[in-house]
Amino acid sequence: MAEKIDCAVIGAGVVGLAIARKLAMSGREVVILEAEDAFGTHTSSRNSEVIHAGIYYETGSLKARLSVPGRKALYTYCEQHQVDHKHIGKVVVACDETELPGLKKYKDQAEINGVHDLQMLDQAELARLEPEVKCVAGFLSPSTGIIDSHGLMLAYLGDAEEHGASLALSSPVQSGAVRDDGKLLEVGGSAGMSLLCNTVVNSAGLNAQAVARSIAGVPAHTIPPTYYAIGHYYTLSGKTPFAHLVYPVARQDWLGVHVTVDLGSRVKFGPDFGWIDRIDYRFDESREQAFYKAIRRYYPGLKDGALVPGYTGIRPRITGPGEPAQDFLIYGKETHGVAGLVNLFGMESPGLTSSLAIADYVAPLAT
Ligand SMILES: Cc1cc2nc3c(=O)[nH]c(=O)nc-3n(C[C@H](O)[C@H](O)[C@H](O)COP(=O)(O)OP(=O)(O)OC[C@H]3O[C@@H](n4cnc5c(N)ncnc54)[C@H](O)[C@@H]3O)c2cc1C
Repeated sequence: MAEKIDCAVIGAGVVGLAIARKLAMSGREVVILEAEDAFGTHTSSRNSEVIHAGIYYETGSLKARLSVPGRKALYTYCEQHQVDHKHIGKVVVACDETELPGLKKYKDQAEINGVHDLQMLDQAELARLEPEVKCVAGFLSPSTGIIDSHGLMLAYLGDAEEHGASLALSSPVQSGAVRDDGKLLEVGGSAGMSLLCNTVVNSAGLNAQAVARSIAGVPAHTIPPTYYAIGHYYTLSGKTPFAHLVYPVARQDWLGVHVTVDLGSRVKFGPDFGWIDRIDYRFDESREQAFYKAIRRYYPGLKDGALVPGYTGIRPRITGPGEPAQDFLIYGKETHGVAGLVNLFGMESPGLTSSLAIADYVAPLAT
């Protein structure tokens, strides 16, 4: 006999937890099903921990529409819930004249997206802000920040639990079926169970497509292909030479090897970009020379031997090599025809920044 519940959220990453929080706080009964034995062990703890301003995203895309309100809501949330964060600010720099049109493009896109606080800076002004950075021009984004993503997830989970939600760890969803009386989920793990749910939110990150495919009755044409793009981070040994995050103008469909400073003032460089064919977080140390080369374009003072291998993260992509990066795909009944089912695909950056706004967007689809 299946146990009946109102909502199941599959995946306890930052997005799944934000959605579970929102649903629980609106009075719904919520169970969060997480395959691992802890929450947030995949993409939500393997990212840059940057609160993005919302500059780059294509006009009208979900990324553009959710990142700006998401960022504002996140700062307020962090202040109210004592989640560690900092308005550190970011400088985006053109390393040579050929990159100046890229800067202008960002500034124009930012205006369209509602980010009106960028301050254009000449070489001398940038030299005062970031003496170690070599560039010809740039801008400052004062509303870019950094955050403790684990602390944020803990706060979301706390809110959800306070409103009656429960987190089931080591509970992988293995299969399911759309039935007239609800969505049936078969959950593995030691406490294996069958759950009959009014609502299912599939927020399984890198596995979201596989989970959707395992639920009989979800039309195959509404499930995008799966691609994985790994990013490596190197850390810098010694004291930080930077006061802000530093991003070079992007040269491909990613943001380049940029500088992030964490809340402990440690500097990390990355992520880079490479296609892989399965979820494998192993660090490929052969990338070191490419990092030195890319970083020295804007930080010529980088000393030999200063880079230390850090960690990797994997982007949950829905488009592959040679194709442009895609928007978030958040599919409800209008797309796949199944009431009370929401599938989230391609939740890469800026998913952390946008998490509260994503939850607001998903809640009405989850009825
Ligand atoms: C390299 C990199 C850098 C990034 N930097 C930033 C940044 O600086 N700022 C920003 O805003 N965003 C950033 N992002 C994006 C952000 O990290 C993600 O959008 C966000 O973490 C996605 O959260 P999620 O909950 O969707 O996925 P995840 O954190 O991956 O969570 C999915 C969960 O689902 C679980 N799961 C999987 N399969 C099952 C199953 N069958 N049953 C039950 N549970 C299952 C997994 O165990 C996992 O815990 C970055 C992403 C990457 C890859």
